[in-house]
Amino acid sequence: MRILIANDDGIYSPGIATLAEVAATFGDVRIVAPDVEMSSAAHSITASRPLSYKRTPIKNFEAYRVNGTPADCVALGAYHWEKVDVVLSGINLGSNLGNSMWHSGTLAAAKQATLLGMRGIALSAPVTWSEPNFDALKPAVQRVLELLLPNSDLTLVNVNFPDEEPKGFRWTRQSVRHYDGQVVPGEDPMGRQHFWFTSMPIEAAEAGTDRWAVEQGYVSMTPLRLDLTNEAELSTVQSKYSLLE
Ligand code: MN
Repeated sequence: MRILIANDDGIYSPGIATLAEVAATFGDVRIVAPDVEMSSAAHSITASRPLSYKRTPIKNFEAYRVNGTPADCVALGAYHWEKVDVVLSGINLGSNLGNSMWHSGTLAAAKQATLLGMRGIALSAPVTWSEPNFDALKPAVQRVLELLLPNSDLTLVNVNFPDEEPKGFRWTRQSVRHYDGQVVPGEDPMGRQHFWFTSMPIEAAEAGTDRWAVEQGYVSMTPLRLDLTNEAELSTVQSKYSLLE
């Protein structure tokens, strides 16, 4: 199995080396990731300037850094390495739950894999008062890959780890009830007004969702699809306004 590893935290982030180490027990691994942090870049691509692809040492892995977005990295990685089976993205420093999925560069790398005909799995761990203990996370990452990699029906999966030793594993759906993005005003040291756009949970999560599972101490695994069509609204408007002449 050919496993391409990407992320949005940048190629020198500790989570990517942990993911590569665990993934190497399942197949051939190559790392292609942004040269700097691209968190919240979502699924943007670089179309207005050329991209570079440079070899760089990450432990003993074949690794390349790209001056582009997570989606660019997956495109270049697949171009330089034929027949990649699956793209693993992460392990991100920070959860990608619920509406965070819209902004996530970590998930975008996995989505880009799916767009290019490969499978994609995004993995994220919460940052609380300190960064995740990636060594302690390795057995849970191993178990997730044991569950997901042999199952080729799963084309795109978003995985989130809890901030403690996991109680177990749960299949979940995306929590989308309310948007938790908020503008928070502040002042710089010169007294000038500025703003942070930040994301904070605003209410308890519904049972069965990704946020709920992680809050309960489980590893959350959400199968996703790229088709955003609202089927119920589509059939409503089709019957209301047939548009057929
Ligand atoms: Mn990130």
